[in-house]
Amino acid sequence: MALRFYNTLTQEVQEFAPARDNTVRMYTCGPTVYDFAHIGNFRTFTFVDILRKTLRANGFGLNHVMNITDVDDRIIFNAAAQGKTLEEYTAVYTQAFLDDCRTLRLERPERLPAATGHIAEMAAAIERLGESRHTYASEGSIYFRIATFPQYGKLSHTDFSGNLAGARVDTDKYEKADARDFALWKAPKPGEHFWREPIGPGRPGWHIECSVMAIKYLGETLDIHAGGVDLIFPHHENEIAQSESLTGQPFSRFWLHAEFLMVEGQKMSKSLGNYYTLRDVLARGYEPEAIRYLLASAHYRKTLNFTFDGLKSAATAIDRLRNFKLRIETGPHPEGVDERLAERAAAAARGFAGSLNDDLNTAEALAAVFEYVRDANSAMDAGEFRAGNAAAALELLGRFDSIFDVLRPTEKSGHIPDSEIEALIAQRAAARKARDFAGADRIREQLLERGVVLEDTKSGVRWKRK
Ligand code: AMP
Ligand code: ZN
Repeated sequence: MALRFYNTLTQEVQEFAPARDNTVRMYTCGPTVYDFAHIGNFRTFTFVDILRKTLRANGFGLNHVMNITDVDDRIIFNAAAQGKTLEEYTAVYTQAFLDDCRTLRLERPERLPAATGHIAEMAAAIERLGESRHTYASEGSIYFRIATFPQYGKLSHTDFSGNLAGARVDTDKYEKADARDFALWKAPKPGEHFWREPIGPGRPGWHIECSVMAIKYLGETLDIHAGGVDLIFPHHENEIAQSESLTGQPFSRFWLHAEFLMVEGQKMSKSLGNYYTLRDVLARGYEPEAIRYLLASAHYRKTLNFTFDGLKSAATAIDRLRNFKLRIETGPHPEGVDERLAERAAAAARGFAGSLNDDLNTAEALAAVFEYVRDANSAMDAGEFRAGNAAAALELLGRFDSIFDVLRPTEKSGHIPDSEIEALIAQRAAARKARDFAGADRIREQLLERGVVLEDTKSGVRWKRK
């Protein structure tokens, strides 16, 4: 089945293929590194990982950018309160996020630009928006004037033409002409960090960060933009307004949004205090694979209720699959092939791929695998599973694990595989090429912290373990 996604923009399930050269240009909103991420956040990042792997399974190449939001009101406030520079404050949480991603086996996007590495470009974009009369200044801040973008509301399917007085959509307290207008550039506050740019002293708003980095690294029109459902409005609506006002082109062809991880009927969130970080859950003795499995097992457009019982069931499901694999590998199985089972394996493989291609229906994809495992286990009990059925069974498990990635046991902490070192070195080279030297240095430091030393030589980069 051809790959199809539900597109928030069109409210329809549409067939997907990249617009150009078989490479998917994808932007996903990354973490705000003011604290440790919670497993609700990781539900969205796990969805993005499943999306990446499914795109690749369909033969597409990936150019995926995820931003690190290392400047926002909370970061600036907390850093000032603790007497730290922004970088000192955020470095800890950026590293923690990357470590957590590795623990959850989330692939690294091709690029992970930090917002603070792009402030001048954001200021330049705001200046251009000003030249085309999309902005106004008020008390040292600069706002986007929504009235200049008549399509505002097209992503969230909200009609903003009515009277919205008092309907504040942004939490900041600055003065604005229309309640919907949002800050592009915020005036400095006493004692807090700010940047000096030609548009005046200040700091960027959150929305402009994503527009600028997406367009810079991926071009004017993305194939896919994704994030959690809470970002549809106002964040993604604002990204569209800014980006399309800057370029005159559609900002993204597809918009995908993951539903929430819930706790007792409410969204898991920092502000409600009903959250667990990944570290909290691991400290209770659960394996990262079980968390990954649980987060990936529900369809991404349905809410998922988090419970420790659910986590235990996830661990049991993984055990069943690992035991099944071992049983096939160790045998012994009688010679020959059982045709009925061979057909069952083929049907399960088709069901697995077809369900994933049907808007990433992971729940159905898992059902296809488990039905087969049940049949094959009873066939083994009855002596009907034959040696010639093993390859197809292992192939199915391999396909399953190329997406779900839970069958390998947890790696010993601290070990970094060669492939990941090479990938990080390639990312560092890309960062340097894009003159993102701070980003490149961060990658070098990360590797150093994990015991890998880089050496720049005339013939390229060499690395060794300490
Ligand atoms: P933040 O670090 O707050 O910018 O959030 C990072 C990502 O996590 C965003 O894409 C949010 O939409 C997503 N997110 C936040 N809370 C939840 C939740 N309870 N369930 C799923 N995704 C969430
Ligand atoms: Zn964003």
